[in-house]
Amino acid sequence: MSRTFSLGGIHPHDKKISANREIGEFPLVDTAYISMSQHLGSLSEPVVAKGDRVLTGQLIAKSTGFISANIHSPYTGIIHNIEPWPDLSGNMVLHIIVKVEEDEWIKGIDLDPSVERNIKLSKEEIIKRIAECGIVGLGGAAFPTHIKLTPPPGKKADILIINGAECEPYLTSDYRLMMEKAEELLVGTKIMMKALGVEKAVIGIEENKPGAIKKLKDTARKDYSEIEIESLKKRYPQGGEKQLIDALVRRRVPSMGLPIDVGVVVQNVGTAVAVYEAVQKNKPLIDGIVTITGDCLPDQRNFRLRVGTTFEKIIDVVGGMPQEAVKVLSGGPMMGKAISKLTAATVKSTSGILFLSQEQTKRAPENNCIRCSKCVQACPMGLEPYLLNKLARASRMDDLEENMIQDCIECGCCAYTCPSCIPLLDNIRIAKASVLKIMRSRARK
Ligand code: SF4
Ligand code: SF4
Repeated sequence: MSRTFSLGGIHPHDKKISANREIGEFPLVDTAYISMSQHLGSLSEPVVAKGDRVLTGQLIAKSTGFISANIHSPYTGIIHNIEPWPDLSGNMVLHIIVKVEEDEWIKGIDLDPSVERNIKLSKEEIIKRIAECGIVGLGGAAFPTHIKLTPPPGKKADILIINGAECEPYLTSDYRLMMEKAEELLVGTKIMMKALGVEKAVIGIEENKPGAIKKLKDTARKDYSEIEIESLKKRYPQGGEKQLIDALVRRRVPSMGLPIDVGVVVQNVGTAVAVYEAVQKNKPLIDGIVTITGDCLPDQRNFRLRVGTTFEKIIDVVGGMPQEAVKVLSGGPMMGKAISKLTAATVKSTSGILFLSQEQTKRAPENNCIRCSKCVQACPMGLEPYLLNKLARASRMDDLEENMIQDCIECGCCAYTCPSCIPLLDNIRIAKASVLKIMRSRARK
């Protein structure tokens, strides 16, 4: 029987309209715009200068500070400039701009597509290689993977969970990876098990992807018996770390806590494949699988896309902006972010681009709260969104903290269910950022 999490959740239409499109290679671009902020933590620092020639896969920016990540060139070309460039929200962030010439890979990267099963590196060498290759979590947060695989003193993982839920409607990049890179994913999982020193791993996949469940079960049966494949009920936000841990191992991560507090490390399927490529093939993270989709887009696709590709270029390659599209999101409809600047470029964690029509973006007028409690029933974190919304509007920061706004995972289930069309998520998200700022400054004193 399929498993699921205990609290709240919703059942939006999954709209996996690009599920049967195999991963295609995206054409070479003229110019790549590589952000120095592609991960959680401090900005990377360029190690190249204007006018330098760089090869595909060459280190161009190094990590700074404890939480940060290396960045490598996605193409061969000349460094045109190092300057602030807009990110998808329009904020100016330092970018390295490469005028692309060709695609000559730096020596030492194994481009042979055959699967390398033998894990030769030691635990320490694995973590070092993952850090060198700039691997970050590809489930959304882009947390540097080498840090996550190095639990702090006094904490120990006993299980690794691989997130193959892909519960966001429309997105199919993880599904395609599970279908097309099943064995690489399993080797990547074994590598992370070795790094963590755990004996057990579970890959959780929602039951609306029976092909991926079968593919992984069939592949795991042969040589990967220590990795379990579990079917999960289709329910959003099944892929949230805390929800996945609850669903698969019935452990509760404490408020403001981390999965490692309950002995778990969670990684996404994309991250597992990136880890495989880094450790077995010495390939840095310069590309990822991206779904380009939407009901108003005539030709939905899954591409292997290099980082630094502008949204403008992507739209061009898929045949131009669909006539009916009025909004473009980076990510899915529940947690994706509106792209305000089409000149912005993809980053390591970009997983999807979604075109929405006027009909899909229309917001009904907001009405008063009728205290129906639908938002409370839908909240997977056990919060009271109607109350948080009221407190947020009154800027009552102490009360917001007391009512655990900091635990909100910004899943949007509350806003989705509200019959009064109150923009609960928008209000809660802004207030949560202020509360976290207050909490952090208090902790520093
Ligand atoms: S967005 Fe926050 S408050 Fe709303 S349902 Fe999700 S976790 Fe709960
Ligand atoms: S779902 Fe909307 S109307 Fe119902 S209690 Fe929550 S905020 Fe109020």
